[in-house]
Amino acid sequence: MGTIRRPLVAGNWKMNGGLEGAAALARDIAAGSSDLPCDLLVCPPAVYLNVVAGALADAGVALGGQDCHGDEGGAHTGDISAGMLADCGCGFVIVGHSERRADHGEDDAKVRLKATAAHRAGLTALICVGETGAERDAGRAQEVVASQLGGSLPDTTGSANTVIAYEPVWAIGTGRTPTPQEVQAIHHRMRALVSQSHGAAFGDQVRLLYGGSVNPGNATALMALADVDGALVGGASLKASDFLAIANNTGHFKNK
Ligand code: PEP
Repeated sequence: MGTIRRPLVAGNWKMNGGLEGAAALARDIAAGSSDLPCDLLVCPPAVYLNVVAGALADAGVALGGQDCHGDEGGAHTGDISAGMLADCGCGFVIVGHSERRADHGEDDAKVRLKATAAHRAGLTALICVGETGAERDAGRAQEVVASQLGGSLPDTTGSANTVIAYEPVWAIGTGRTPTPQEVQAIHHRMRALVSQSHGAAFGDQVRLLYGGSVNPGNATALMALADVDGALVGGASLKASDFLAIANNTGHFKNK
């Protein structure tokens, strides 16, 4: 039997909700988070990190930022450093999400700097990659993902400080997903690639999440795949019962 990787189900709340809603959602998630077969992570808007941290209390649910700057500090109006996220109780930060890549022109080099900053601050970087619909239609999905992986993972990458999420851009928020066979094929290839670049032990141990329209209905099939170690969830993470149902669907990973 190979390495047992404990699944991670991460909720990316994006720019949704308000203060009271964030606290209530965190409380509901905390209330349902005992005895889950996976680790749980929530990434609220940065301005709500403190209130969400308070609502999660000792529930054992990890807290993460949705982005960080690549520098430790300085003249970067509106930005947040990885150290600031750590100060708020974060253990994780998402970097390279396709919405950051598209909305803020973040390329692989920038994502790599952000992941390095996360590692420097003691955070786990949740590094996102994934092809657009046009790239998929052109048969370039594997090539694009390989190139993003090559450019986005810093030398500081290790299985204790890095999680990788495959998020096909065309599947985010659309209700469409690749077939389980397609997801497994990409994840298998990703694991082979990072084994080559960062060593066999890393390849064996790193958690590879799938993200893009995961919901309680499709989670069972996706989470059962051999090289899928959990999910990065957007829309369905805004409803505690759906998010927790997805988390409960990772159960059969225990003995993988
Ligand atoms: C995401 O944006 O990371 C995501 C996976 O969104 P959704 O689940 O809504 O597709």
